[in-house]
Amino acid sequence: MSTTPLTQPLQQQHEASLHQLPQSQQQHQQRSASTIRHVPAAACKFYLEHHFENLMKHHHERIKRRQKLEEEMNKVKLSEQAQEQLRQLLSMKESRHLRMKRSKLNVGMFHKHALLGVGAFGEVHLVRKKDNDQLYAMKTLRKSQVALRNQAAHVNAERDILGEADNEWIVKLYYSFQDEKNLYFVMEYIPGGDLMSLLIKKGIFEENLSRFYMAEMTLAIESVHRMGFCHRDIKPDNVLLCSNGHIKLTDFGLCTGFRWSHNSTYWNGGIPEDSVDMSNDYTSKPLERRKRRHRRHCQSLVGTPNYIAPEILQRRHYTKSCDWWSLGVIAFEMMVGHPPFLARSPAETQHKVINWRQFLHVPPAARLRQEASDIIYRLCADPGERLSDPANIKAHPFFCTPDPVNWDTLLHSTAPYVPLIRDELDTSNFDPVEEDARGADSDGDDTSEQLAQDGINPHEKFPDFTYRRFFDSIY
Ligand code: AMP
Repeated sequence: MSTTPLTQPLQQQHEASLHQLPQSQQQHQQRSASTIRHVPAAACKFYLEHHFENLMKHHHERIKRRQKLEEEMNKVKLSEQAQEQLRQLLSMKESRHLRMKRSKLNVGMFHKHALLGVGAFGEVHLVRKKDNDQLYAMKTLRKSQVALRNQAAHVNAERDILGEADNEWIVKLYYSFQDEKNLYFVMEYIPGGDLMSLLIKKGIFEENLSRFYMAEMTLAIESVHRMGFCHRDIKPDNVLLCSNGHIKLTDFGLCTGFRWSHNSTYWNGGIPEDSVDMSNDYTSKPLERRKRRHRRHCQSLVGTPNYIAPEILQRRHYTKSCDWWSLGVIAFEMMVGHPPFLARSPAETQHKVINWRQFLHVPPAARLRQEASDIIYRLCADPGERLSDPANIKAHPFFCTPDPVNWDTLLHSTAPYVPLIRDELDTSNFDPVEEDARGADSDGDDTSEQLAQDGINPHEKFPDFTYRRFFDSIY
């Protein structure tokens, strides 16, 4: 019997599922009895609204899976008997998924191997899940830091997009869970390092390599927008390289689906988000600047304003087209060797981005093809004039000459650069994290005091955070 993307994992997971059972009901009841707390009415309302939105979401996902199965079975023209068997398998898998969703995950179920990177609120580790022996990337976020910096809406939006994404351009989220101190995202592990690590290694990319990454980023951003999301923080650190050299986007910590639950004002009791923190120190030397990025990430919510569209920095109305601006900035950096608005301080960078008409110049010494400079100028443009329609971006001469990009087969083509990965635990493609860049474990008294002063209880901020992907093993 021929298989399809949905029917194949169904059969494989049916066998695997027989070995796993959720935790006992008894343990669960004991735990609930000891943890009943009184909470304010507003927190209850918040929890219920959020909970019902999630219930509806799961209901729709269930319907979608059923429809997809029917469509795929129609495509491969299965016999009536085989169709009925697959319907039954899906229904068993749905019941098992519901049961598994109620069972708890904890950090002890994973073995930590290596530190891959540092983000604004925590660290990303290569981990192995003990029961299925699979490798994942686990991002740990300090609840207190997230709460203190009013980022609950962003964490929620990131969980939504990574969980809902089911395409080749976005890292998959397999599980999310929380404990007393931390929030955890357990994601697909992408072993080839990130584009910033490659820029550090190579300094500058040849046009052919830049064109490949630009083309793949175009498809990736288009897929994010199609899902109804806007990334808002597209930068080389967030572009990961798979073992075959193709890319995937990560870090949707600033993304928004423009949904009520992604609106910080709702989560913060009326306090608007503090999305751009300019507390960084920069150096004018691009390679040193890149070397210091991890330290910067620890200090700042966004890391760097270098790639952020001016309308976001100015807190003006913005649309999804802000992601195309960032693509223009990355194109400049890959082909010229430094980002266009590099400055000694974040405030100066911000000034340059906002006054981009004065500061955006492709240096003649970089000897870029006219088509290459043109696409940069068209992406880094005023929102009204910006190249923002994916069809127009793909049709730009930069992608058509000397040889046209084949958009339909790009993902299955041989990448111009394939990272060297010696074995499954080889993390040498990731730029090493300096010891002083690590901040996840330092949750000092200051944070608790500040939270108490602001009347924030970080444990009430993340209702329904737990997530399990429907097909939750990598195959
Ligand atoms: P983030 O906190 O999401 O910005 O991630 C910080 C760094 O961790 C990234 O720049 C990557 O180097 C690394 N990283 C994040 N997610 C993954 C992943 N799924 N696989 C491999 N490395 C990752």
